[in-house]
Amino acid sequence: MSMAFLRSDLLQLTAYSSHPGKDGHRTTGPMDQLDTNECPYDLPLHLKAKLATATHGLAANRYPDGAYLELKAAIAEYANESSQLPGQFTATNVTVGNGSDELIRSLLIVTCLGGQGSILVAHPTFSMYAILARTLGIPVVTLDRHPEDFAINLEAAQRVIDHPEDVPVRVVFMVHPNSPTGNGLTPQELAWLKQLPENILVVVDEAYFEFSQQTTLPEISRQPNWIVLRTFSKAFRLAAYRIGYGLAQPGLVATLEKVRLPYNLPAIAQIAASLALAHRQELLAIIPEIQQQRQWLLSGLGNQTSLLAWPSLANFIYARPQGQPTAMADDLDGWFDYLKGMGTLIRNTGGGLRITIGSPAENQRTLHRIQSRPLE
Ligand SMILES: *Cc1c(COP(=O)(O)O)cnc(C)c1O
Repeated sequence: MSMAFLRSDLLQLTAYSSHPGKDGHRTTGPMDQLDTNECPYDLPLHLKAKLATATHGLAANRYPDGAYLELKAAIAEYANESSQLPGQFTATNVTVGNGSDELIRSLLIVTCLGGQGSILVAHPTFSMYAILARTLGIPVVTLDRHPEDFAINLEAAQRVIDHPEDVPVRVVFMVHPNSPTGNGLTPQELAWLKQLPENILVVVDEAYFEFSQQTTLPEISRQPNWIVLRTFSKAFRLAAYRIGYGLAQPGLVATLEKVRLPYNLPAIAQIAASLALAHRQELLAIIPEIQQQRQWLLSGLGNQTSLLAWPSLANFIYARPQGQPTAMADDLDGWFDYLKGMGTLIRNTGGGLRITIGSPAENQRTLHRIQSRPLE
């Protein structure tokens, strides 16, 4: 089929797959879905009931509230609480998106589109930055993290900024703590980000903040070129509803409004997010369990298994086959296929394996299955 009307650069791109390798068969029983870093627990039933009542009361024929002021105010309050800076944020500091993925795309549109700039990412990291950039024709500059501690070579990073290849770097994307590797930004990395000139946007993606309790939110009062992204998809258990948000100075927030699609958040998603925030104590009460389970799985993996696993600040663990600074694709595929066959779906990131912390029963199965893999 000839589709000569298409941009030629799109022909090389493949569509994002949320569960690569999920299709295909396994013997029996349900799959432990430990490949997308969701919370293992659904919303409590009494909150589902509230959500159902609210949905029932919605006028389906009317557009949703397109300003989101109530939700933004609730997010600002949560941000103040989580950064322990009372009064730092108001609704004017908050932008909301159909998942933080939408906000990432909006950020690319307001910074780099049309040959205006490139983005800098440190590999391995969240794949969506580069995927979305490429769909917009935006160049991606990739630096490799250190294979043992995943630190960024800051001299190399500074060289890229000082001597760009064609277009200047306009955005630096950092996940804190990083996915898939689970490490937080080091003091040196933070200091480097803070000294970047104001014509470079620093995006700190804190999708896993609730698990790490580490935040760069205090930077926002000092830095007009800083935005923190967060999401309701992970600790808040609302991945199905697609709500992400960003916190920045009002000037950047107002600019993002210019490129946002009208009504980007369905009414039901707004209600779900407000409800989750109103009940955050109850929802976030499972965080200590996830953190303990993370420790349990990490020590278990450290104990006579053929995987080398790293400590993590998030709700997942990164691992590689022992004794290989760079994992072999075949070995990673072997682990992925073996675990899938046993009923545990994990993520093969290409350089390693990322295993989400699930319920205690799921984690026990994960460890048991890893331990009982026959050695070649
Ligand atoms: C899961 C995740 C997100 C969340 O994306 P949503 O679109 O809000 O579901 C954002 N950034 C990173 C690094 C993530 O892992």
